[in-house]
Amino acid sequence: MPVTRANAMSKENKKVAVIGAGIIGMAVASCLQRDGHDIFVVDPNEPGLGASFGNAGVFGTSSVAPMSMPGAIRQVPKWLSDPYGPLAVRWSYLPFIAGWLARYIAAGRPDRVERQARALRDMLGRAVDNLAPLVEAAEATAVFHRNGSLFIYRSAEGFAKDRQTWDLRARNGVQWEELDAAALRQFEPSLSSNCTYGILVRTNGHTSNPHALVTCLAQNLIKRGATIHRTAAIGFVLDGDRLRAIRTTQGEIPVDAAVVAAGAFSRPLSRQLGDRLPLETERGYHIMISDPEVRPKVPIADQEAKFVATPMDTGLRLAGTVELAGLNAPPNWERSRILLHQARGLFPALRDNYPEDRLSLWMGHRPSLPDSLPVIDRSKRSPDVFYAFGHGHVGMASSGMTGMVLADLIAGRRPTIDITPFRANRFA
Ligand SMILES: Cc1cc2nc3c(=O)[nH]c(=O)nc-3n(C[C@H](O)[C@H](O)[C@H](O)COP(=O)(O)OP(=O)(O)OC[C@H]3O[C@@H](n4cnc5c(N)ncnc54)[C@H](O)[C@@H]3O)c2cc1C
Repeated sequence: MPVTRANAMSKENKKVAVIGAGIIGMAVASCLQRDGHDIFVVDPNEPGLGASFGNAGVFGTSSVAPMSMPGAIRQVPKWLSDPYGPLAVRWSYLPFIAGWLARYIAAGRPDRVERQARALRDMLGRAVDNLAPLVEAAEATAVFHRNGSLFIYRSAEGFAKDRQTWDLRARNGVQWEELDAAALRQFEPSLSSNCTYGILVRTNGHTSNPHALVTCLAQNLIKRGATIHRTAAIGFVLDGDRLRAIRTTQGEIPVDAAVVAAGAFSRPLSRQLGDRLPLETERGYHIMISDPEVRPKVPIADQEAKFVATPMDTGLRLAGTVELAGLNAPPNWERSRILLHQARGLFPALRDNYPEDRLSLWMGHRPSLPDSLPVIDRSKRSPDVFYAFGHGHVGMASSGMTGMVLADLIAGRRPTIDITPFRANRFA
């Protein structure tokens, strides 16, 4: 294993271990490498096989509304009782997630929602522009699209019910165009005539292959001298509060600094450093149809059924749903199939049944904190270990800014955004 520090590094150029090769780890590593640091990534899997693999791929500059909104809790009984609903809970997991749920509900208080939205705006407002240089350097422009995304309601009344969310977005600088039934049909002829009201956010973007995007970032890192090692981080070697090495399942790796970017699996690592964080997983699913009957121009979010249909290079991806069941329970593939049922309401040309060889099903672990904000900070126990995890529903979109902030923190520069809302001690 290439673990020795061959040459003494200047204070500015550090050897940095990035723990986790999802979109967050790869964006952070890319920004650190751009600053001249020596990068060593560890992940037990190939890059991009975690939550970053099967998501809807939307770079949502408009995704500034936290998941817990005032009054949203009133919808929960309806969602849970509907087998096609967007939320499912494994009841046996409820005792384990009760504390997280209590914090989640508290995060929906109006004053907190305003604060969280401002923090999300800072993270996401320039999501597409922040990612673009990394994408260009990694020669991944073929899977990077800057042509907006569409939000669909069955009626203007459906939109009115969501008004508080759009007002919050407007207060945070999101701009959109409202499309009536005719304009909607003109923009996207494959939509059902039941969809009579649309919102087009032109500043949003998407990737047509999240896995390829992460892979390109990883390959570019290697091309420029980084090492990516297939091993899991299990801890840290500290000398006082200074980091000497990370411990992995294959031995110690001497480093000057480390970034924990292991997504939903980051909790045991941060706990070793004295930070007890309420990191949970909101499991999400997708179903993909290869050679689909419809190929929308841009990602389409069904705001009532709560899923996204994204045109991917390999087919139409229907992604969404939240299942609270922890990291270890086996997938419930019915959650994927429900998405196909829902999508037929959006695109009548889709079929009821497909041969299994045209479908692929996936489940992934969103890394979620109850206030819908990630943790981006130094650890309590060591100034050399940093956190970049917990990006929930917006990890693809917030990866560029996360990388920039981490590079600033490690260089001792002041980040361009206020990072107080992302502090690890906010749950203390
Ligand atoms: C259905 C669904 C749809 C979504 N749609 C969108 C969307 O449209 N737009 C958007 O912005 N976001 C979306 N998301 C959220 C987004 O996918 C996540 O926020 C993002 O992928 C998280 O990235 P990550 O790098 O933190 O985690 P991951 O991609 O899960 O990567 C973590 C990595 O850490 C590794 N790891 C774990 N433990 C260790 C260890 N001990 N040592 C070393 N490595 C370790 C794992 O193997 C993995 O590779 C969606 C998520 C889901 C589930």
